[in-house]
Amino acid sequence: MPLQLYNTLTRQKEEFQPVHPPQVGVYLCGPTVYSEAHLGNARGPVVFDVLTRYLRHLGYQVRYVRNITDVGHLESDADTGEDKMEKAARAARIEPMQVAQHFTNRYRQHMLGLGCLPPDIEPQASGHIIEQIQVIEEIIANGLAYEANGSVYFDVPKYNEEGQRYGKLSNRSIEDQLAGTRANLEGQSEKRSPLDFALWKKASPEHIMRWPSPWSEGFPGWHLECSAMSRKYLGDLSDIHGGGLDLMFPHHECEIAQSQGSHSHSDEARIWMHNNMITVNGTKMSKSLGNFVLLGDMFLGPTGPLAFGYSPMVVRFFLLQAHYRSPVDVSDDALQAARKGYRKLMNGLRLLEELVLGFSLLVAGSDNDNQKPATRNQEPEAQQLLQLAAKPAEFLDDDLNTPRALAALFDLLKRFNTLAANPAALAVVGPEALAAAATTYRTMVQDVLGLREETAVNPEQLIDLTLGFYSEAKADKAYDKVDQIRAALKTQGIVIKDTKAGVEWAYSEE
Ligand SMILES: [Zn+2]
Repeated sequence: MPLQLYNTLTRQKEEFQPVHPPQVGVYLCGPTVYSEAHLGNARGPVVFDVLTRYLRHLGYQVRYVRNITDVGHLESDADTGEDKMEKAARAARIEPMQVAQHFTNRYRQHMLGLGCLPPDIEPQASGHIIEQIQVIEEIIANGLAYEANGSVYFDVPKYNEEGQRYGKLSNRSIEDQLAGTRANLEGQSEKRSPLDFALWKKASPEHIMRWPSPWSEGFPGWHLECSAMSRKYLGDLSDIHGGGLDLMFPHHECEIAQSQGSHSHSDEARIWMHNNMITVNGTKMSKSLGNFVLLGDMFLGPTGPLAFGYSPMVVRFFLLQAHYRSPVDVSDDALQAARKGYRKLMNGLRLLEELVLGFSLLVAGSDNDNQKPATRNQEPEAQQLLQLAAKPAEFLDDDLNTPRALAALFDLLKRFNTLAANPAALAVVGPEALAAAATTYRTMVQDVLGLREETAVNPEQLIDLTLGFYSEAKADKAYDKVDQIRAALKTQGIVIKDTKAGVEWAYSEE
């Protein structure tokens, strides 16, 4: 079965068909870089990293764009107009761009730690003001936006009159949309309808981040950057546009309206995908509840609701254990279970190294192996192993079902363990099927799911342990062993020093 993905826009799973095969354009709404990233910010990047890795595995040429929102944006329309980035900058008495750069660097570091490959293009909103102004001009020319007092608003009722439906992505009625904007007073007197949203805002005198435009010195509305940058790098219609469920309305809804209202006249992306949210011990993660889990703190631990720290790879495994459209609840119990699962999967990699190597040596050593590989792969045992190995990809084809893919990898690992304990059964399977299944396991774990080995070993402790053996050998006058340990440590760039106080070590200066 070819790859199927759930499209929020059509509310069903669809067979994935690129607009321009074999090229595939994926856009993920990236972070707003005015504060530290929290666990919720990691889910989208991990999910879409697996998606792009899998698309590449299937042979597609993927261009993956993940933007950086550094212009800052109004928290909601009810906001006073001061944007988050400036608030943070003012508090720290530094340049807004310095704040943005600092948190961008931190974010990139965390994403690399989590095994997310860097995007192919990482455009910054502040670097694309000209493109955003151009989109606004197009929307005005198409009669779907108007200027009021130096700001520009998208005319939602007019858009609907022209046969479009603002709300088609989130499936919200106009009443629901109005309920969502009721509290919002800012700019209301300028808007023709409370449903309208800002494309350009005139800057108030104290606003630092501002750019010239045909309407006023000001700044673009938040929703605009993604429409402008997606079009610039992925064309009028990209393949996949992703983000968290919280971005579906109004952010993505507005993006679609902007693209339809501009010269693109498209839904911006063919498939709109949304990952679900993260809860902490069953409740929503929020700063006011004090259960906010920042990524940097979580890796070091303990923090907030968590009594321990968890490594980035354990966090990645934890996130992949849930289907991306289901909510995930974070707790120490769940993370400890994830750590167990992650380590089991890594031990599988080590087992396969020994199993495949040991078996090929065994086969090379025996000359009564006349059976042709092709016939050997027909054996039911070999067939069974290859079928098990095909399962993880089948589950990924089903709307990127990573929890079932992981379960299938554990089934495959179980079979490898059985074979490792039973050389006769292994001989029946044959080296070709074993090698093929082992390659699939490695590819799925490392290349597609992006889970790599993380050394949990403390090198200093290992050196101290070795020095203990060294001292014992010296006391026993076992000089062969003494020399052996010295030589082994030397290959690691470590020299042993015998001093009056005892045994010490230093980095080799040779
Ligand atoms: Zn966006």
